Amino acid sequence: MTADGGDDGSFDRLFLGSDAGEAAYRDAVSRARKAVVEATRTREPFSGAAPEAVEAALPAETLPESGARLADVIDEVSANVLADTVNVSHPLTAAHLHCPPSVVGLAAEVLLSATNQSLDSYDQSGAATVVEGRVIDALCGLFDFPGTADGVVTSGGTESNFQGLLLARDRYCAETLDRDVQTAGLPPAAEDLRVLCSADAHFTTEQAAHYLGLGSDAVVPVETAVDHSMDTAALDGALADLESSGRRPFAIVATAGTTDVGAIDDLEAAAALAREHDCWFHVDAAFGGALALTDERDRLDGVERADSIAVDFHKLLFQPIGCGALLLGDRAEFEYVSRHDEYLNPGDSALPNLVSKSTRTTRRFDALKPYVAFRALGREGLGALVEATLDTAERAAGLLADASDFELLAQPSLNTVLFRYRPHEALLGEELDQFTVALREGLFRDGRAVVARTRVDGRDSLKLTLMNPRTTPRDVATILDAIRDVAADVEADAPPRNG
Ligand SMILES: *Cc1c(COP(=O)(O)O)cnc(C)c1O
Repeated sequence: MTADGGDDGSFDRLFLGSDAGEAAYRDAVSRARKAVVEATRTREPFSGAAPEAVEAALPAETLPESGARLADVIDEVSANVLADTVNVSHPLTAAHLHCPPSVVGLAAEVLLSATNQSLDSYDQSGAATVVEGRVIDALCGLFDFPGTADGVVTSGGTESNFQGLLLARDRYCAETLDRDVQTAGLPPAAEDLRVLCSADAHFTTEQAAHYLGLGSDAVVPVETAVDHSMDTAALDGALADLESSGRRPFAIVATAGTTDVGAIDDLEAAAALAREHDCWFHVDAAFGGALALTDERDRLDGVERADSIAVDFHKLLFQPIGCGALLLGDRAEFEYVSRHDEYLNPGDSALPNLVSKSTRTTRRFDALKPYVAFRALGREGLGALVEATLDTAERAAGLLADASDFELLAQPSLNTVLFRYRPHEALLGEELDQFTVALREGLFRDGRAVVARTRVDGRDSLKLTLMNPRTTPRDVATILDAIRDVAADVEADAPPRNG
């Protein structure tokens, strides 16, 4: 029994459905809410705590024999855990494609977690299944998909990319090799299956190829143009080379918004080549898909010709993690993952049981987050949030270009800004790389700003991913000043150089 369970042996205070349970719920949630407000309001982007310090602050016993009062545990988590998490709502947190969750999404999260629907079957979800369908339909409309389109809510881009390529593989095997992979497994010719994507595509394309039994060597990286988008002539050439050497290209993955540069592949050209070579056309729009809500929708032209699209709500659409979607141009293609089980979705069921569209079984009602966001903010409201972040990235690039101690590496395409700090003592090559790495580590420990590090054209670089619509150019200037401060420390600590 926990300290909250009551002495009468009743479990009422632990569950909703009684006066005692409701009172306990209200108390606990209001305490949790206070802890969240404090954690986001009063803290720097990061405390700088190292994992060892976090370990040392936690109670020794994770699973004690008798529990403590819930209120005390919430206070303890607030002090020992929340205090050393990354403050994603802070305007100076600007490292990854990791958004501040909107209040709209947080409210939806309360509704969906407490009602705890499971989207695998209608008899575990009722209206939630219908709402997911509405969200999918709205998304299909945004991407100008045909009337045959459909989709499913996923945990994010990883799952969407995986499922898109799973369907692609199985359609190819069914149509070209007369093989039902679901029952018979991979055919011998699977060795020759190839996926093409830009050399800058997200690593989850290779990961999916691994999970699909093809191996990451089945992914053929295609050279990029100067703007880091997939080079169409190179894609054409790679397809021809593969075919002439007896390989079987079955899918082209185009990226709408690469993680580092925000590059958007030429979707029209990729769609045309996919059609010509009988390849499945998957668009990884986990990042850039949000442009569909803005005045820059035309940058996604050609997306409507995709067989599948990956979209993420927990990036530029400001929803709490996790929330994404996989859209299909033709709903019939869900047949490659669908199976029937007597207890969940018997073949004779007239009800919509979404388990037949998902790679998961029990599945959260994450669709409620975009549903509430769509209803509360409208296309215009959501588009304005996305546009505000794009504008901040532009202005940040301007500040970096104007500063003599920084080097801007590329004009931003979406929300990322790639740059380097120029130390006073001019460093080149690996020495500059080492300096950049030390600078970024120093910044993380410092905690005043959270900035990412990546490699651009083979060299270590810094990256801002400006995902917070509240971040202003003045905030960006504050980030740059923090970088200057930490850079001065790194320069002062640097061991004397040879020569
Ligand atoms: C983030 C991202 C992914 C992975 O998505 P998750 O939501 O993290 O699973 C895939 N592709 C691109 C382009 C991304 O930006």
